[in-house]
Amino acid sequence: MGQAMVEIIEPDCTGCDLCITHCPFEALLPLSDCPEGRRKRPVIVLNEKCVGCLSCLASCPTSALREVIIPAESEISPLIVDRERAPSVESVNRWGKDGNKWA
Ligand code: SF4
Ligand code: SF4
Repeated sequence: MGQAMVEIIEPDCTGCDLCITHCPFEALLPLSDCPEGRRKRPVIVLNEKCVGCLSCLASCPTSALREVIIPAESEISPLIVDRERAPSVESVNRWGKDGNKWA
């Protein structure tokens, strides 16, 4: 594989949402529900959509986004998650009526 992808250091993510519009592949989306003890719901990386372009890294004011290097000999991404058990996320309207028009 040899692909670079990203992960979010969850305690460092304030849920500011700035990174969401920096991902051209809509791989960064906020959780539907706010976990207990958090003021804002964090954003997660949808690994099946992330192509490792790293466009989002500089968008995070708290450096919560980090590059993950996937070793060339890997047969499967270490970021793959079981979507059956993955938390639900909110969709973000970019291009429809009242969309934010960012990509
Ligand atoms: S690395 Fe690229 S595809 Fe992956 S979340 Fe960041 S901007 Fe989106
Ligand atoms: S820009 Fe950083 S702090 Fe803001 S939601 Fe994205 S990962 Fe979290």
